Amino acid sequence: MGQELELQPQDSRHYFMLPQAPQDAGYYTYGQMKGKPSNGAYQYATASMITAILWVEREWQTMDGRKFGVGDISLTGGLANKDHKTHRSGLEVDIRPMRKDGKHEPCRWWDAEYDHDATEKLIELFCINSPVILIYFNGPNLPVVRKWPKHDDHFHLQLVA
Ligand SMILES: [Zn+2]
Repeated sequence: MGQELELQPQDSRHYFMLPQAPQDAGYYTYGQMKGKPSNGAYQYATASMITAILWVEREWQTMDGRKFGVGDISLTGGLANKDHKTHRSGLEVDIRPMRKDGKHEPCRWWDAEYDHDATEKLIELFCINSPVILIYFNGPNLPVVRKWPKHDDHFHLQLVA
């Protein structure tokens, strides 16, 4: 018999969970809930956000063998949470800066493993095809980004509603 189709989880807003990064995807997912992978619990996204991430993923794969790390987007139903004041719309995503070694681990912009050029390329890709209205990140010498407290190990990217 044919392979059974796995249904992508969907919440009360009809937002889908970001696909949890199949093996050959250009991104990986990470979660911050209690420091453990959240298995997508924090990754319910608008259609525009899913499209933005998947589009960047396709482009990124053609240029770079490393994967980029996608973190919190929003909880199911847009529930409030104590980790973020924002991240309730499905239009905001946290993404790790690129590491030179490509490890699926956190990285701050002052770490030796921080790859400025690759991070810049990643940010540019998001801006090329998506309605980005703001990016918070404290890494130096990057276009578009604005500095904001606590944004040293990820950039926070928001799309227009
Ligand atoms: Zn954020």
